[in-house]
Amino acid sequence: MAWPSSRIASPPDTLTTLPELRARPVTELPGCGPGIAAALERLGIESLADLISHYPSRHEDLSNVKRISRLRLGERATVVGRVVSVRGVGRPVRGRTPGFKVQLYDGSGYIPAVVWGREWLRGQLVPETWVVVSGEVQRRYGIQIAARTLEIVDDPGSFGDGAHTGKFVPIYPAGRGITPRRLRALIHRALDAAGYIPDPLPVSVLESRRLPNLHDAIREVHFPESRDRLQRAMRRLVFHELFLVQIGLAARKMHLERSEPGRSNRGDGSLVNRYLNGLPFALTGAQERVVEEVLADMSSERPMRRLVQGDVGSGKTAVAICALLTAIEAGRQGAIMAPTEVLAEQHYLSVSNALEELPVEVVLLTGSQTAAERRVCLNAIENGQAHLIIGTHALIQRHVRFRDLSLVVVDEQHRFGVSQRAVFKEKGISPDTLIMTATPIPRTLSLTLYGDLEVSVIDELPPGRKPVETVHVESARRMEAYAAVEEELDEGRQAYVICPLVEESEALEEVRAAEELYGELSEKVFPHRRVGLLHGRMSAAEKREVMAAFRGGGIEVLVATVVVEVGVDVPNASIIVIEGAERFGLSQLHQLRGRVCRGEHPPRCFLVGDPQTEDSRARLDAMIRYQDGFRLSEADLAIRGEGTLFGSRQSGMPDLKVAKLLRDVEVLVEARKEAFALVANDPYLRDPAHGPLKREVEELLGADIEWLFRE
Ligand code: ADP
Ligand code: MG
Repeated sequence: MAWPSSRIASPPDTLTTLPELRARPVTELPGCGPGIAAALERLGIESLADLISHYPSRHEDLSNVKRISRLRLGERATVVGRVVSVRGVGRPVRGRTPGFKVQLYDGSGYIPAVVWGREWLRGQLVPETWVVVSGEVQRRYGIQIAARTLEIVDDPGSFGDGAHTGKFVPIYPAGRGITPRRLRALIHRALDAAGYIPDPLPVSVLESRRLPNLHDAIREVHFPESRDRLQRAMRRLVFHELFLVQIGLAARKMHLERSEPGRSNRGDGSLVNRYLNGLPFALTGAQERVVEEVLADMSSERPMRRLVQGDVGSGKTAVAICALLTAIEAGRQGAIMAPTEVLAEQHYLSVSNALEELPVEVVLLTGSQTAAERRVCLNAIENGQAHLIIGTHALIQRHVRFRDLSLVVVDEQHRFGVSQRAVFKEKGISPDTLIMTATPIPRTLSLTLYGDLEVSVIDELPPGRKPVETVHVESARRMEAYAAVEEELDEGRQAYVICPLVEESEALEEVRAAEELYGELSEKVFPHRRVGLLHGRMSAAEKREVMAAFRGGGIEVLVATVVVEVGVDVPNASIIVIEGAERFGLSQLHQLRGRVCRGEHPPRCFLVGDPQTEDSRARLDAMIRYQDGFRLSEADLAIRGEGTLFGSRQSGMPDLKVAKLLRDVEVLVEARKEAFALVANDPYLRDPAHGPLKREVEELLGADIEWLFRE
């Protein structure tokens, strides 16, 4: 291979595993003094392992370099040249130059490269520095190249024996206090110092998936010989990362299945059938299928761990009630936990209503009840009088003791942290768990996110649902939205108006903004209508009153903060106006719009706002284009990137560094198959050949995690 490090022989005495490299500080490398070490630390790099896994964000392909004398107007080209001089261009704004111009010479000719922003680069571009520039060749007061990328490289005369050699120059995310060039040199040295890195993945897996070994892959990702090899190496690193996570998930699943003896919850259908007969509609095919899947799980001895994914308005509540009633038929208790009081209250109202004729005692437990109400409720839960318990987080406090809880439903799971999932078990009970979410995550992705759960998808909306006509209006024209509201109200419908989002820390600001909007609408825009206000700072009683009035039609226009985001269900509301729409995330917008796709009337949604960034414009465009939550979540991932997807809030799993779920779905599926097969054969990774793998997974997930490889 062309790059020098590969020529290092790999005698067994220089074997260094990744965990060992994690214990070796970067300062052991020549040329890495305290200043550089500090700069590296800012990049999150402390050990040799960190350094060699600081992968390039891309490679500059020098095989397409053009001579300056050969450049043509209008083409996109890459040139390698020496810096002759640098000067600022454009009008200075508050003392800052908006850009600068670098005069380049490559032996065949001169050309200026114009760089906008990236001021920090300027200081590094002293004359005689070699750079690679790519961009469009334009004519602006003479020929110039508009630099899309500009990278400092070694003197091309030395190409072939330095760290920045070969045709592909790795470009690293660099930072203050360290140049990309220095970073490249250090990584090169770290690879040399590391010696041969043994592979923790079983050879059989690598062979069956045709993946290069870890040692080669790491080197090729930094200093590849060809595009092909680079891609193969990347694929290996992506596989590596996903495989470790999947091993963890497989181990967790195994652990849960063994450590929690479940019990069979089988009903006779008496309550479920009466409930279904009383509904004004028949279940959709998708709802029926999911109910069947859930009941089958419940009747098995293993504790159920199932995720029900269904878009906003797909009718998850009815599915949950069928499951809860089955638990009650079996002579036990069922509980449903909602993320907000507004939603818990609503569930309580609609469930007690739907079950009015049935011999089922429904109770509500929230944080804001009076001590007396609470005592009655807790008693009923403990002595078994209460069959179906509806609540908020209050349900999982220590002093709540269930008589015989056998099913827990967690509604709108994405609004909870993951920790709630374990809590019921801590109390010495291992009930069946049903987790419901509308978070529109494409199905394949949810396999990873919730990798230890079985997944059911409600992929059908109740009949007659009409797409929500969605329009964007600039705030200067927001009265057009209110004119549309007026039309709907004339038809006897109701409306939501959502206040702009404020920072979570500014609760008082939220109240002020909500009251202001409420004032404007009730006094100026709809003086002749009944307007109500709902925000998070109101007391539970006030909220209850407002929601009751809205549900009953007493309030025609409900001005609300995001408290109505999830779950709220008032079918007569047919229009929603979202003020400051550009500030909301895509899944929030989708949830909010979901408030009006519940009835038979053609629903409308107005997104009011003046998006300033590309991302916010893209979000509004996506809302206009797509109705389907799955499509929207794909758009969301594309806009946001995936960095936050794996945040502990969602899954308790580590963030992905190399893999990109959308791009790497196929690799994910492969990694999952291999990992689950391996854990099925060797649940605790006891086989000595799996020792290195076990150590890697423990390092990644934390060896003390209760479910990891514990017998
Ligand atoms: P989500 O999945 O968002 O929680 P809900 O369970 O709140 O949705 O249901 C949304 C609305 O659709 C409710 O008004 C509910 O009564 C109604 N609904 C549910 N299932 C059906 C069905 N099969 N046919 C008609 N309407 C239904
Ligand atoms: Mg719901």
